[in-house]
Amino acid sequence: VRHLILILGDQLDEAISSLRDADPQRDRILMAEVMEEGRYVPHHPQKILFVLSAMRHFAEQWRADGFTVDYVRLDDAGNSGSLLGELERARTRLAPERILLCKPSEWRLLDIFQQAQQRWPELELRDDERFFCTQSRFEAWAKGRKQLRMELFYREMRKHTQLLMDPDGGPAGGAWNYDADNRKALPASVEIPPQPHFPQDAITLEVQALVAERFADHYGVLEGFDYPVTRAAAESLWQHFLALGMPSFGDYQDAMADNQPYLFHARIAAAMNIGLLDPRRVCLDVQAAWQAGDIPLNAAEGFIRQILGWREYVRGIYWLMMPDYAERNALGNQRDLPEFYWTGETRMNCMSQAIGQTLEHAYAHHIQRLMVTGNFALLTGIQPKQICDWYLAVYMDAFDWVELPNTLGMVMHADGGYLGSKPYCASGQYIKRMSNHCKGCAYKVTEQTGEKACPFNSLYWHFLMRHRDKLGANHRLAMVYRNLDRMPEAKQQALWAWGEKLLARLDAGYSL
Ligand code: SF4
Repeated sequence: VRHLILILGDQLDEAISSLRDADPQRDRILMAEVMEEGRYVPHHPQKILFVLSAMRHFAEQWRADGFTVDYVRLDDAGNSGSLLGELERARTRLAPERILLCKPSEWRLLDIFQQAQQRWPELELRDDERFFCTQSRFEAWAKGRKQLRMELFYREMRKHTQLLMDPDGGPAGGAWNYDADNRKALPASVEIPPQPHFPQDAITLEVQALVAERFADHYGVLEGFDYPVTRAAAESLWQHFLALGMPSFGDYQDAMADNQPYLFHARIAAAMNIGLLDPRRVCLDVQAAWQAGDIPLNAAEGFIRQILGWREYVRGIYWLMMPDYAERNALGNQRDLPEFYWTGETRMNCMSQAIGQTLEHAYAHHIQRLMVTGNFALLTGIQPKQICDWYLAVYMDAFDWVELPNTLGMVMHADGGYLGSKPYCASGQYIKRMSNHCKGCAYKVTEQTGEKACPFNSLYWHFLMRHRDKLGANHRLAMVYRNLDRMPEAKQQALWAWGEKLLARLDAGYSL
């Protein structure tokens, strides 16, 4: 064997760097399903099903193209249980001249393979070229800056890629950002686009039985899996969204509604993160749809900012700051993650909706993650490691490189403001404005303290009072601190006392 090419579960892209120049006569592809990757956090069963089924489909495709694929199934006799173990077994079996691997997307695995390189000089780690921004470009941009700001990075990337740029060098439409147009609540009459369906084939059904047997103890419902596991199916999900969801994506990207898990969201992140969709192609499609007059600029810009801006920005920060970044806890949080994050059993309707659909579909959209489950974790001071592991486990699209900076930096402000300029803390008023959840809630969003009061209200003020030493000088919070100071002393004390009571209930293991 000339090259032994190891393909990981999130590298299912035929253009991946490790497959460049692959030769079916002389090279061998290795893919392995291993317990360690399924268990290092308790991944949602649908997420495991998604990755394993997509891996098996990918292997079939390469076999059809004439390649020999050594595919190790989770239940194969002799499976060592780890990726390194499987590579070692294949190396011994095949004695390849070289071993090729596209650099893993997460630090944990890169570290393992870089250590292996010391022992196996034939192991070549190739750069992952599936992104707009190389690591060296990001490092050069970040150099010398005490704090990083996504917006500035995003403008650089717009210029670099020429996406949504006018011929005179300015941003299309004259502004870099149309966020102000993208915060509309959902009108009662709006028609939500239907979702396409992806019937399970024999491969997916076989994997489903395996996951049911091996991961029965993991949080989340396995049945009802309805997600693309091939490039062609991912493409049809994308085209469906582009035609039906995209035109209103901008307007309603922050909206939430009872029993509406997807609204105008593309839900392509999982497919993109494992290599079934190319982010560059996706952005070009969006630009073309805008140029053709099919979608408004605020939708096109808002979508491209998610991919060209946020997605690339968090990846840049991840590689710049790891491994220390994962240990950050700038607000000194010590509280355990409440049990109801795993069960959805809470009387807070917004939380129950977000956690419930997570349990059912391994999906929630970014505002649910940031302003509901994330906001609650921020306000109550959950240990960053615990909430990061929760997000990593429960979402189908969650991989460490994208989940960790989003949760630790953006949601929890645990990096002290390196990634984002202010914590995304909010009271129940924000959730009321952006959703219809409060109407069906056991709590009253208009009340601040007492058994009926929305817990987000007192917890919001408690959070601001508790961290005044760290956040009081943040100019983006100046107005909320002024509002706090204008409150009568007795009201401040009542909010503090009620917040204390709620936190004590959480510590005693009660749900809210
Ligand atoms: Fe959520 Fe509070 Fe509204 Fe209930 S009242 S849905 S807890 S924001």
